[in-house]
Amino acid sequence: MTPSTRTLATLLIANRGEIACRIIRTAKAMGIRCVAIYSDVDADARHVREADLAIPLGGSKPADSYLQIDKVVAAALACGADAVHPGYGFLSENAAFARRLAREGILFIGPPAEAIEAMGSKSAAKALMERAGVPLVPGYHDQAQDLQTFVDAAQRIGYPVLLKAAAGGGGKGMKVAESANELAPALDSARREALAAFGDGHMLVEKYLAAPRHVEIQVFADGQGHCLYLHERDCSIQRRHQKVLEEAPAPGLDAALRQAMGEAAVRAAQAIGYVGAGTVEFLLDGDGRFYFMEMNTRLQVEHPVTEAITGLDLVAWQIRVARGEALPLNQDQVPLLGHAIEVRLYAEDPAGGFLPASGQLALYQEPAAGPGRRVDSAVREGDTISPFYDPMIAKLIAWGETREQARLRLLAMLAETAVGGIKSNLALLQRILATPAFAQAQVDTGFIERHAEALLPQPPVLTEAFWQSAARAYLRSTPASVCEQDRHSPWSEATGWRQLAPAHATLDLRCSGQTRLCTVSLATVRTTPDETRLIARHGDTAYLHWQGDAYEVTVVDALSASAAAHGFDGSLAAPMNGSIVRLLVSPGQQVEQGDGLVVLEAMKMEHTVRAHRAGVIQALCCEEGEMVNEGTVLIEMQEVEHAA
Ligand code: ADP
Repeated sequence: MTPSTRTLATLLIANRGEIACRIIRTAKAMGIRCVAIYSDVDADARHVREADLAIPLGGSKPADSYLQIDKVVAAALACGADAVHPGYGFLSENAAFARRLAREGILFIGPPAEAIEAMGSKSAAKALMERAGVPLVPGYHDQAQDLQTFVDAAQRIGYPVLLKAAAGGGGKGMKVAESANELAPALDSARREALAAFGDGHMLVEKYLAAPRHVEIQVFADGQGHCLYLHERDCSIQRRHQKVLEEAPAPGLDAALRQAMGEAAVRAAQAIGYVGAGTVEFLLDGDGRFYFMEMNTRLQVEHPVTEAITGLDLVAWQIRVARGEALPLNQDQVPLLGHAIEVRLYAEDPAGGFLPASGQLALYQEPAAGPGRRVDSAVREGDTISPFYDPMIAKLIAWGETREQARLRLLAMLAETAVGGIKSNLALLQRILATPAFAQAQVDTGFIERHAEALLPQPPVLTEAFWQSAARAYLRSTPASVCEQDRHSPWSEATGWRQLAPAHATLDLRCSGQTRLCTVSLATVRTTPDETRLIARHGDTAYLHWQGDAYEVTVVDALSASAAAHGFDGSLAAPMNGSIVRLLVSPGQQVEQGDGLVVLEAMKMEHTVRAHRAGVIQALCCEEGEMVNEGTVLIEMQEVEHAA
């Protein structure tokens, strides 16, 4: 690279979580002093401890903390930062923030504000790309926003159509309409979501392609007008239109197509005078035609797979380009080594519509990093996954000389991972990687839905052998409380053995919403080969593996068990913390199983709470606009017995 033109001694990282830790790692290795910022709930977070200095912002909600431009700029000025790295999300694509920093004489590690603006609206970006000769999905992305315009546009392009928020991101404000009569409610809901998430209800509509692939190009440009593509990533494995697994290179693409996509991406970047790291996202159909979707003017979550196959450190490149250095490579010098796959470990409930989960990470074990293995995370066991931020726990990345090696290595890493106390997508990730269709690289955005039966199986019936084995594992892991000095005394046995005491122990166990009174013979506790494997024991909870899945078995406290049994039968509780957007029913109304009752907004997405059974609404226990906690009763319902 050419000699640097700007000094960069102190860097403020305007982010949190794994991406803040990842940026700190590279910046420190470059001899840069790293300053973190943090919200109230993040006071003890890992990014705070890993930085050289940390500055509190106060507040916890993003709007009160990491999104407060004034506070972030004040922190940067206070620590004498030469530059700010925004990470992804939060202020990373906020042109006003980039401009404000420039006015204060602080470098923004990202593209020029004009480039952020050009791509900030999906509608405007599409218009721009159309002019630059980049192919688009058929659709409508103009100014008029009345229903009739959308009805006419959808009619013209043909159903199914996809409504998208122009300001959208993270799958928010996006709804499919299969037919004309679904259009108006879908437009309403998507617009509401967009207003809540982005403060902007401007929508566009496009043809909803059947099972395309999501293939994106990593581009990099310096301030000297040199722009490269660092190959592509396939991010087709998605739920709720959001990525869960990414890999590079995209399997099965021929050289000509890869080059055509790479060059189209570079054209897109050059059309807006891009500088720094960016990603141009395309949809790729079964016939090898690709269509521009959007450009993300920042570092992506999934950048590690590109780093793994190129051997380049993208954050180091971002910093060097921001300092004014030129890119050190030509297009044909960009390395491409082997294959890499990343999975995103999320606190969420795959069986419950992928609702984000929050709460304490009572058990957390992550795989060791090493050759071909990378773990990007920012949590420790005992941390709380807060409802305020993205529920990603960690990213696990495996590299191999071939895709198959990377796949097997990632499976091995997942087998070393354990999450407890909170729902996670760990088992889903394992199943995705183990599915023959994935091994054969038959990937497209419909993958999870198409393989739902194998990927999201019904919870298995817990057999008697399971309960017995779980009870034995629990007893074995019970620390001896008597005669701690003499570990050889029978009194120190953790099996519950007591002189003249009965040779059995009875435990009231709860697992997966079921309870079981289990009597086990103490003589068998050490001798019987077990069906379950104990991962860890914390307090009253044992974490076990059984038939390839993880289970939490808790010894039930008699009082709380009876409260649960007599408490809330026939009532519907909030599945997560959130706010009530709409009540869809009124008292006295009869509902069928599956009918929508309440629309809840959480993590900026709308979720419909549905009736588990047919019944009659007795009472509404919440109001529109109200904030509710997970478990809060929303509706009282009387079940109706249907004649068989
Ligand atoms: P966001 O910015 O909210 O992430 P994107 O426009 O990037 O939204 O789209 C997210 C995902 O939604 C894509 O990766 C793809 O799976 C799906 N998607 C988007 N547009 C279409 C379309 N026209 N047809 C089919 N799927 C689409």
